[in-house]
Amino acid sequence: INVCVTGASGFIASWLVKFLLQKGYTVKASVRDPNDPKKTEHLLALDGAKERLCLMKANLLDEGSFDSIVDGCEGVFHTASPFYHAVKDPQAELIDPALKGTLNVLGSCVKTSSVKKIVLTSSIAAVAYCGKPRTPEVIVDETWWSDPEICKQMQLWYVLSKTLAEDAAWKFVKEKDIDMVAINPAMVIGPLLQPTLNTSAAAILNLINGAETYPNSSFGWINVKDVAHAHILAFENASASGRYCLVERVAHFSEVVKILRGLYPTYKLPEKCADDKPFVPIYQVSKEKAKSLGLEFTPLEEGIKETVERLKEKNFFK
Ligand code: NDP
Repeated sequence: INVCVTGASGFIASWLVKFLLQKGYTVKASVRDPNDPKKTEHLLALDGAKERLCLMKANLLDEGSFDSIVDGCEGVFHTASPFYHAVKDPQAELIDPALKGTLNVLGSCVKTSSVKKIVLTSSIAAVAYCGKPRTPEVIVDETWWSDPEICKQMQLWYVLSKTLAEDAAWKFVKEKDIDMVAINPAMVIGPLLQPTLNTSAAAILNLINGAETYPNSSFGWINVKDVAHAHILAFENASASGRYCLVERVAHFSEVVKILRGLYPTYKLPEKCADDKPFVPIYQVSKEKAKSLGLEFTPLEEGIKETVERLKEKNFFK
């Protein structure tokens, strides 16, 4: 079976490509720059890559640039989307590639009769920012939708980009009557396959690279391998539908530091919170839908350990 993965060089997509090759799929994978070894070497070295991986150049903002990549593929995994926070121009850097890019990829999917199912990598960012309080007894689930107005007020531009992109994708597939599922992971951690540092792994690295304080934030956390598996389960399971939130556990950064301290007692870790306010509360995220796919969740502790070990191996430590 032929499938396409957009943004194949990324943290999540690299694991997705690895597992797809392992399962015998033939993978057409888009990268922005096929001549940059940092973006391609780790993919070309995967088992099965020589025989069944084809890297092709495409940019989310170039209209039609995914046409020849999705053509001939039964499944399209659309993972490409910028994820970083230090932006100068949110519209150009985050919102356009997320929103226009998603519609660009979906537009390519309807130009060919080969595509049967699309798996969209959305985010818990498109779920949780709806203005409802998040406290320990609250269970966030797939019925929640982030509110673009709240994202704008809070200047959460990445959150806005993912919310607008997923919303536009659902409207598009409804009109064109194509099958799509969305995967909505929280902060993704675990071992990096790619040689560059991605934003969510950086959240862990910052804590061990000499930060004086930890952020006063509570995030859901999920292992990258679980996220990649969920994409494939959602593709292969004919009855999969709608959105799938992926959170193993919500934890405040103080809790992440505590886990790190237990695992690495000799490391210098931040002792204080970045502000004096009460800790941002934790909340729950429903696992029911994800479990219905057959997904098993790797414990947060294991994900933190895997992240640190790989960051150490790849010399990211100061
Ligand atoms: P990475 O930064 O590792 O990967 C992002 C990918 O998007 C890269 O392959 C990048 O290509 C590609 N990309 C960005 N802009 C463009 C563009 N204009 N044209 C083509 N490709 C582009 O991040 P992750 O693996 O973490 O993220 C992958 C997906 O998962 C994203 O959709 C993200 O929103 C989502 N996600 C991530 C979470 C996390 O915690 N990591 C949580 C929830 C959702 P290039 O390599 O060329 O830069």
